[in-house]
Amino acid sequence: MKVYLETFGCQMNELDSELVRGHLHSLGYSFTGDPNDAQVILYNTCSVREQAESKAYSRIGIVGKRKAAGEELILGVLGCMAERDGIDMLRRYPQVDLLCGPGELDKLPLLIDNVRRTERISTSPRTDRAPARSVTSGDGRVALAGNKSRRSATLGAAEDSLEALDLGRAFEPREGSNDRSAYVRITRGCNKFCTYCVVPYTRGAEVHRPPDHIVEECRRLADSGVLEVTLIGQTVNHYLYVHGAAVDASGGETPQVGPGAAAFTRTGLDRLRSDGQRVTTFAELLYRIHEEVPEIKRLRFVTSYPRDFGDDILDVMAACPRICRYLHVPAQSGSNRILKLMNRGYTVEEYLEFVQRATRKLPDVCLAGDIIVGFPTETDEDFEATVQLVRSVPFKNNFIFKYSPRPGTTAIDRYPDDVPTEVKKLRNNHLLAVQSEVSTAVHRSWVGKTVEVLVEGPSKAAADAAEADAIDARSTVSAVHGSTDQQPATRVELRILGVSQGASSNGAASSPRQRGLQSDGRTAPLPAGTQLVGRTGGDLITFFDCPAGRTPESLRGTVLPILITGSASLLLQGTAVGPQGTAFGTDG
Ligand code: SAM
Ligand code: SF4
Repeated sequence: MKVYLETFGCQMNELDSELVRGHLHSLGYSFTGDPNDAQVILYNTCSVREQAESKAYSRIGIVGKRKAAGEELILGVLGCMAERDGIDMLRRYPQVDLLCGPGELDKLPLLIDNVRRTERISTSPRTDRAPARSVTSGDGRVALAGNKSRRSATLGAAEDSLEALDLGRAFEPREGSNDRSAYVRITRGCNKFCTYCVVPYTRGAEVHRPPDHIVEECRRLADSGVLEVTLIGQTVNHYLYVHGAAVDASGGETPQVGPGAAAFTRTGLDRLRSDGQRVTTFAELLYRIHEEVPEIKRLRFVTSYPRDFGDDILDVMAACPRICRYLHVPAQSGSNRILKLMNRGYTVEEYLEFVQRATRKLPDVCLAGDIIVGFPTETDEDFEATVQLVRSVPFKNNFIFKYSPRPGTTAIDRYPDDVPTEVKKLRNNHLLAVQSEVSTAVHRSWVGKTVEVLVEGPSKAAADAAEADAIDARSTVSAVHGSTDQQPATRVELRILGVSQGASSNGAASSPRQRGLQSDGRTAPLPAGTQLVGRTGGDLITFFDCPAGRTPESLRGTVLPILITGSASLLLQGTAVGPQGTAFGTDG
């Protein structure tokens, strides 16, 4: 059976999709990139903002029409929408055959099989423990969700069968594959309860994976050809594993519920240690991966929480050359009043203190973030404070979102969504313009320097990926300032910069090189040739000409020293210098 799997939203979902793909593949399913060619259509959905949900609903509508026309298809909705809407979605959308929340993805093959056999599952497959909820629509269709019951005990989470999904990921040799980057999850869920956010409800309690599992996963990925690993968690710097607290019957370490914010104070950690507990902090985890898996040439992590980001992490970053100087640390707002309403747990002053510390210890660090505009009660003064924050921090980019009230969150119950849509739009656009100025200055500061660029391929690939909405926060999109209308912004930016095929609608030369982007931003005609694109360790997108005598294919997945000769607000342009195309991993 052929499966079409489409992913909406964040890196977490992308990793979930990769794991689901590997699991189904091992059971004999094949995959297609064309929904019209598939017998099973799966949408891995996101509930963080309404826009992502609307997109998924529109896809569900299209499949509904196909099924109404007589096509035999299985339609599954995975991820946060499945978790949040549950049986209601089955009632409202008869075309949906199965729902599977993010905490139950290991059960997906069982659910698909159930639909194929048109049998009804009357009891939860999780007979061994409480949290899973399995409900049927009455006609055999199944909604499986689990994370709404938040686990409170360390050992409760130890039974988390999702760990098997992470551990069972496909580590195929990646010889000849373009994909040299991979995500590795270090924590699941979130305990922060920012008032606007659905994640703590859809993904459940913060659960931390054992360090040995994480290091082993990195090692196996490296063995399969992966060069760049991004550790992911909602607040990665809050990773903390207390050894011996969660073990299975054979004494092996298992995932455990996060220890809570108090553990991140010096006294909290000291208390844990003086109680004789052995702990692994995030800094120690980073160091372990750096030292034990040197084949990973780039180690990054997202997303960082501005509070409790200790000097120990910055020191490890400074000492370890293969840890990227890149920090995605969302500020969300520049107003202390709004931060308080958001329950973010830090002030603007504390955020700025963190930025100062980070830039002092890592002078070449690239900073990125997220901002929400139009949070309930946000005044012009609050918004102006956010503008000031964006102006005062050298952000290479910020994803800027218009506040979107989400069912189930504290904010929707407590604060009326009183900032008019028009005002949200104006603030969004204004902040995008300010961020564009900041990004331009940040990118310009790299002109004249030589950077190491991990080659992704010909620049056309980036354009195609953007057109297919397939680019994630790690790659080209991350250079864009972002907005709630993130993808359209991406296309516009790429088009302006000539990366998108749409740019040449008037027949004009379209790549940055063809446009002859200069350090002062003016353009000049240059002869045509092959443009390559890659990223620096700080995640700055860099375009450059393919060096003479080399092919784009031979350079993909290699690191090249690139002298930066020009810049725009979102990208760098340069020329390959020095040893050209040193295989990443053999150049020490
Ligand atoms: N855990 C990360 C953190 O705390 O920074 C963020 C994860 S969240 C899935 C990604 C971003 O979506 C947030 O940083 C926030 O800017 C945005 N976001 C979340 N809920 C939102 C909402 N209700 N409306 C608008 N933006 C929202
Ligand atoms: Fe959501 Fe806040 Fe958790 Fe991030 S830290 S996932 S914004 S609740």
